Amino acid sequence: MEVQDYEFRTGHLCVETDPALCLPCQERLDRQLALLPRVYGELEVVLVAAQDPGDRLSGTDRPGIPLNGPAVEARAAIRDTLASWADLIVEGRTVRLPLRTVPALAAFLRRHLGWLAVHPAADDAATDIDTVLRHALTVARPQQALMAMAVSVGP
Ligand SMILES: [Zn+2]
Repeated sequence: MEVQDYEFRTGHLCVETDPALCLPCQERLDRQLALLPRVYGELEVVLVAAQDPGDRLSGTDRPGIPLNGPAVEARAAIRDTLASWADLIVEGRTVRLPLRTVPALAAFLRRHLGWLAVHPAADDAATDIDTVLRHALTVARPQQALMAMAVSVGP
């Protein structure tokens, strides 16, 4: 995983002049949508790891369900965010609803990115997806996410 995969919208102001997303913002959104299914999968690994405490001799009578709350929430946030923006596209373009899986939703959004980028809500979509990815990364890859944030806080 390379640092440039972690491009966020910190300080980007293209919407001050135009409701549409500028090309760099579209490209960043496209990369974020490409990355989200992978991070979604990594969150599942975090979950499975959390559910296997690894000390089965500890004598607790209840096999614990130490659900990793942040990972559960981050996964739900990814799914809900992608689904809600996919709904907007379905309504606006009268296209078929994609499967409600994260890879299918992300691929659908990438396919319709050009349409979404000039929609009045384009900036909200970009901000939502940026936020949900940023949060998911802090849960899935705490160390890398911290480093990347340090890198992305530039002038
Ligand atoms: Zn921009």
